[in-house]
Amino acid sequence: MSSDHSRRLLTAELLSVGSEITAGETRDTNAGDLARDLTRLGVRVGRLTAVPDRLDVARDAFSDALQRSDLVISTGGLGPTPDDLTREAIAAALGETPMVDQELEAWLRELWRRRGMAMPDMNLTQAWLIPSARAIGNPNGTAPGWWVNAADARVVVALPGPPREMRPMWREDVLPRLQARGLGEEQEIRTYRLTGIGESAVADLLGEALLRQQNPEVATYARAEAVDVRISAFAEGDRSAAELAEEAERVVLAHVGKHVWARDDESWASAIARRLSERGWTLATAEIGTGGTLLALLGFQPWLARSVVAPAHTAGDLEAMAGHVRSAAGADVGLAVTLRPEGSDTTVLIAIDTDTGTKTERRLAFLGGEQGRLRAALLAAAVLWEALGEG
Ligand code: ATP
Repeated sequence: MSSDHSRRLLTAELLSVGSEITAGETRDTNAGDLARDLTRLGVRVGRLTAVPDRLDVARDAFSDALQRSDLVISTGGLGPTPDDLTREAIAAALGETPMVDQELEAWLRELWRRRGMAMPDMNLTQAWLIPSARAIGNPNGTAPGWWVNAADARVVVALPGPPREMRPMWREDVLPRLQARGLGEEQEIRTYRLTGIGESAVADLLGEALLRQQNPEVATYARAEAVDVRISAFAEGDRSAAELAEEAERVVLAHVGKHVWARDDESWASAIARRLSERGWTLATAEIGTGGTLLALLGFQPWLARSVVAPAHTAGDLEAMAGHVRSAAGADVGLAVTLRPEGSDTTVLIAIDTDTGTKTERRLAFLGGEQGRLRAALLAAAVLWEALGEG
């Protein structure tokens, strides 16, 4: 065992232990929660693994993960029953033998005494430690966690499975300790949100070389409201993370810049708010047959002077509606949107009225029904945003 604390923890793997996870009975939310926190702190999360309650499989998973990563965090398998074998698996992976820790045993017995019950012998396993491990207190349950200083200054942390026990232990205890120990590295993340282009067209324009390179990493994500292009960079040699991200950003913007409507996690409502406020304008909307999806997307906003939601059978002259809702609300922009099924897809008509005139756009939304209605709202937002950028 090494006590060298000079190694920053830069790479991590997460291990979810439990047959209920591999059987699909419990959804593994723990690994995703931990991965998100670690990624934000500049740790490269290399793998999320789930293993059943089998000692050999769990032991191998710990030792393999330790070969690859500075930090291995497991959740689950810390209960008192024989199928809770995370402690044994870590001990086996490290070649150490678990022994009952006197202090932990006293703490556990006290917990049981306070409940007015005798502690079953089985629960003694929760007082186990190995020489490399220290217990992590669990204020919300009986299973202490383990902090293990492994060889080469690597760290293993075992957290309990129930999220209401895992999260406080992680946030209030383990994470601050890891940060004090040296966690992650400087990282620059920039996300561009695109409209009017599909994910594969974006990928085509950016090219395979860019999308496969590791640092900076450029990735595309097809989300409901946008195709996102995410650039993440770590410092390398004498080049800072920001420099590397900027270099990738120049390439991304040169290829798809004209489709960018927002950065990072900005929403349609806030992108539209930005453009309206540049002009000091307000908006009025009329949506027919959408089920109110546009209002749901925009939300109640100070710049939304009026929002009319009407059923499909009231559809009439769309341009007149855009003009009418605008003048009735005394707004600067009127938008009317309606839709009709087109095979299994949805045709969306959007009219935008300002004091310089009215224009109508027709777009096709993929899929019908609720999906079509949601996409109609997204298309209306995109058309409005484009119109507000013109002239
Ligand atoms: P304890 O003994 O304190 O209950 P434990 O560490 O033994 O904790 P498990 O027995 O593995 O935990 O799981 C207990 C419960 O925690 C599960 O029934 C499930 O509801 C939840 N849980 C376990 N693992 C996960 C996970 N990866 N994501 C979300 N929930 C989980």
